[in-house]
Amino acid sequence: MNILVINCGSSSLKYQLIDMNGEKVIAKGLVERIGIEGSRIKHETTGKDEHVIEQPMKDHKDALGLVMSSLTDKEYGAIASLDEIGAVGHRVVHGGEKFAESVLIDDGVMKGIEDNVELAPLHNPPNIMGIEACEKLLPNAKQVAVFDTAFHQTMSPKRYVYAIPYEYYDKYKIRRYGFHGTSHKYLTDRYAEISGKKVEDVNIITCHLGNGSSITAVKRGKSKDTTMGFTPLEGLVMGTRCGEIDPAIVTFLMEKENLSAEEVSNILNKDSGVLGISGVSSDFRDIEDAAKEGNVRAQLALDIFELTARKFIASYMTSYENIEDIDAIVFTAGLGENAIDTRKHIIDKLSVFGLKIDEERNNIRGKERVISADDSSVKIMVIPTNEELMIARDTLNIVK
Ligand code: ADP
Repeated sequence: MNILVINCGSSSLKYQLIDMNGEKVIAKGLVERIGIEGSRIKHETTGKDEHVIEQPMKDHKDALGLVMSSLTDKEYGAIASLDEIGAVGHRVVHGGEKFAESVLIDDGVMKGIEDNVELAPLHNPPNIMGIEACEKLLPNAKQVAVFDTAFHQTMSPKRYVYAIPYEYYDKYKIRRYGFHGTSHKYLTDRYAEISGKKVEDVNIITCHLGNGSSITAVKRGKSKDTTMGFTPLEGLVMGTRCGEIDPAIVTFLMEKENLSAEEVSNILNKDSGVLGISGVSSDFRDIEDAAKEGNVRAQLALDIFELTARKFIASYMTSYENIEDIDAIVFTAGLGENAIDTRKHIIDKLSVFGLKIDEERNNIRGKERVISADDSSVKIMVIPTNEELMIARDTLNIVK
């Protein structure tokens, strides 16, 4: 069966068509600038040249219309007819407390996703638009929602309740939810596969380090704790997000700079993180280059990023009874898979726990490999993530 995986952002849309017989990507693409000037689609069928079309797309329905025509194009497409799409898997950012796993989409599920718009006002609305557009364009294909938050619904109240008046949890569902769940779950499943363990026996600390970053303690195959919180702003310092800060900074800044709630939220989400510290870029490669040229704030940004990652790994190591119980610390995503020095710096300063990287093994980008020394107390690995495949697998399991 071919499964179409859709990931709708506010003005962008990523897709992959995966043949589940062998789990091969047969086409993929990206639509950018939906609803704004300069809309375009980059489509690539495996084995054929990339095809770019620039044309106005006023909304996600227009964008998905172009995705479908690209997939079935005689020249650069991948399939003869849309009937060859057996099911659609949608990435949905916020499932709130309602969804602890992926689900077949029906009216009740749509209502549930809509109820969570308040918790993810930037993310859930484009996800809903994507689902509605696919319902119209592919009336015969079943649709599945796969939530970024679902994997973390196994956290216990002591991990997810914030120390603010409890009434705000009751009233507004303010709690830690955690995100990147699809990636952390993929790593857990993949680790089980590689090691021959049952998923329910896997104990790993998963470090998804990219533009957005989060670390999760996986115990007995389930998320025990994770660094992102009520929103994806909490936890590690990120490309443009501040991560953990003293919440008093928010009210202080609002008063001093006469900022609205939206303005301060924009500062913390878009102008902070390593961009805010370095003043150079949100892209770690630019910051590494600047640091090498002697830019002190770029170096400071890298140091702070590595320090926060280290702090969370160290704290999550206390989630297990013995150090021997931890199967592995796993790095993934843009930085985790590629940033050789960053991985080394994070692990080197965790030597108090007996963690040790092997520099030669660590000298890789984007490959699955053990990178720890033989005498490291815990195995350290790189496992490239694959959120699209995880969504496609969940979708297949549900529609089967
Ligand atoms: P997103 O959260 O947007 O999915 P990614 O997982 O793609 O982000 O990660 C993007 C980040 O990974 C960027 O900051 C980029 O600089 C960084 N990155 C990618 N390749 C390298 C590399 N070779 N060395 C250092 N950083 C890298």
